[in-house]
Amino acid sequence: MDTVAAWAVGLAGASRTWVRALLTVGVVVWLGLPWLAQPAHAEVALRTPAVDVAMLQGQALWLRPLARTLREDAAPPQPIDPLQRLRADLPWQPVRDLEPVFGFGFDRQAWWVHVALQHAGPAPAALVLEAAEPLIDDIRVWVFDRAHGTLVTQAHQGDRVVGAVRPLQHRHLALPLTLQPGQQVDVLVRVFAFDGEHDPLPLRLWSASAFFSHAQLEAWMYGAYYGALGVLLLYNLLLWAGTREGHFGLYALYLGSFLLWNLTYRGYAMQYLWPDAVTWNQIALVGFSALIYATMALFAWRLLDLPRRTPWLYRLQAVLALAALAHAVWIVADPLAATFATLDRVGLAMFAVLLLAALRVAWQGTRVAWIYLAAQGCLLAGAGVYYAIKLEWLAPGPLALQALNLGSVGEFLLLALALAYRINQLKAQRDDAQGRLMDTLQQMNQRLEREVAQRTEQLTQANQALAELAAHDPLTGLYNRHTLLERLTEELARARRHPQPLGLLMLDLDHFKPLNDRGGHAYGDHVLRQLGALLHPPLLRTTDRVHRVGGEEFLVLAPDTDPDGLQALAERVRSAVHAQGWPHPDAAIGWVTVSVGATLSHPDDTPETIFARADQALYEAKRGGRNRAAYA
Ligand code: GH3
Ligand code: MG
Ligand code: MG
Repeated sequence: MDTVAAWAVGLAGASRTWVRALLTVGVVVWLGLPWLAQPAHAEVALRTPAVDVAMLQGQALWLRPLARTLREDAAPPQPIDPLQRLRADLPWQPVRDLEPVFGFGFDRQAWWVHVALQHAGPAPAALVLEAAEPLIDDIRVWVFDRAHGTLVTQAHQGDRVVGAVRPLQHRHLALPLTLQPGQQVDVLVRVFAFDGEHDPLPLRLWSASAFFSHAQLEAWMYGAYYGALGVLLLYNLLLWAGTREGHFGLYALYLGSFLLWNLTYRGYAMQYLWPDAVTWNQIALVGFSALIYATMALFAWRLLDLPRRTPWLYRLQAVLALAALAHAVWIVADPLAATFATLDRVGLAMFAVLLLAALRVAWQGTRVAWIYLAAQGCLLAGAGVYYAIKLEWLAPGPLALQALNLGSVGEFLLLALALAYRINQLKAQRDDAQGRLMDTLQQMNQRLEREVAQRTEQLTQANQALAELAAHDPLTGLYNRHTLLERLTEELARARRHPQPLGLLMLDLDHFKPLNDRGGHAYGDHVLRQLGALLHPPLLRTTDRVHRVGGEEFLVLAPDTDPDGLQALAERVRSAVHAQGWPHPDAAIGWVTVSVGATLSHPDDTPETIFARADQALYEAKRGGRNRAAYA
């Protein structure tokens, strides 16, 4: 999914050259198509009562300036008898200007057109009579031979006519007609609008060969036109399916509505897609038209972010778009309703507000809005002509009738460009935000790691301090009983591996109880601290270790000690205490002395056995009179 999106965005952003090439082609096609769309034949305007078709060689003749018109004042008896209309007493009016196309405006009545043709040439003339407007509700044509009063040919067509008689497979009514040399005919045309909204009637006469050349060119043009729009539609649908990016979906919806509306509007839908479905055709015409306005608005809102950027214009637009959409419901409810008068005005207003909103956004410095405006400018040029015809501000001419197609191709190409630009922009924004997020996350991560390391270090230190605290006696700072067993086990194991055994001294101060009683507990503590300070190098070796195991009892662990060494050590400790001369009020000698029980480890000693031996030796020393060392 992501790769498709990346691919699409890359396509949109990367190849600016392609975009430029596309634009250039678009502009060239846009400028070139009107020229292509022009009938290659100049108009011939004659004002003779009967048109001499010899004038027609290779040319299309607009029949209006040569015609008479008659308004049908009452519903005619059925079936309609056209010959009745040629009676001299009916108020036929000659056309008094050179406008090529009939415009009957809003009228619930039918209108008749009469043209007389004559052929003076030496050979039969093959002609085609064309009513170049597919939306006429109901149009009939009869051709009568003037000399014999006989019906030569006829046709009945229109987008409200079921079982139409199409003399030629063409979206317009196109009636082939052959005139013999010297023959004169009367052409009678009757047009009727069910909802009163008369479409323009571009009635023209062709030589058959010119008509077929023209039809061929037109088929090619429309093929290219629908092909281009169809490809754009499919492409964007695929992009939407692949990326789930709403922009593409809305674009496809807008373009799809437009395409379907155009097929209906140009008569191709009635000709090929749903012939005879006259009610549906009317619903389609109005419904798709309403959908165009609604989807155009939706797409623009999304593309230009209008709800956020111009909330008021957006709301106004939303109301108008809804009003346009309501026409779709209306036409479904009443397929004979005259909906276009309001739909076109509401749509036009919506479009105007949309352009205003786009202009505002563009003015705020949004490039995509400028592209959007350029796109709608193309449509506007075409639609302006279209609406001018609809509102009867402009006479419908052959070029004017093509304007909307051309404008719409330019529009949809530029909209695709705007879309690509917008997607690119969104991606850049997303990347940017993602990058910032990643940076923040990384910073937070680093800070967290630093803090964790710091805390861990603090915790380790605290734990070490705690362990130290737990292992030591607070009064003397010596090791306490806690680690003794562990240490003694280790030293015994070590002694088994070494040549020399472990020496163990058990010290007990003499007559300490009376010292406490007479000198005070504080003095007793003082003496204990002094002794603790004494039991260090140089009196002991650095490898020796002293534990305070009871009130005034101490244990010295002296690794690597031979029997002589043990005796020397015990004696050294005893005499050192003696030499300190800490006053003892109750001792005969006058100062503090110590008794020492000494022993060496045996290979099979446990902490209990060696401890018991040392204790025994101490007991001996005490019994021997104190202030002495005894050995076990
Ligand atoms: P002996 O010569 O037989 O050892 O006589 P002694 O009075 O020293 O007898 P013993 O060893 O049984 O006495 C222990 C006394 O040590 C009891 C108590 O008053 C004192 N003592 C024990 N722990 C502490 C201590 O932490 N501080 C002080 N000041 N005195 C203590
Ligand atoms: Mg004691
Ligand atoms: Mg004692």
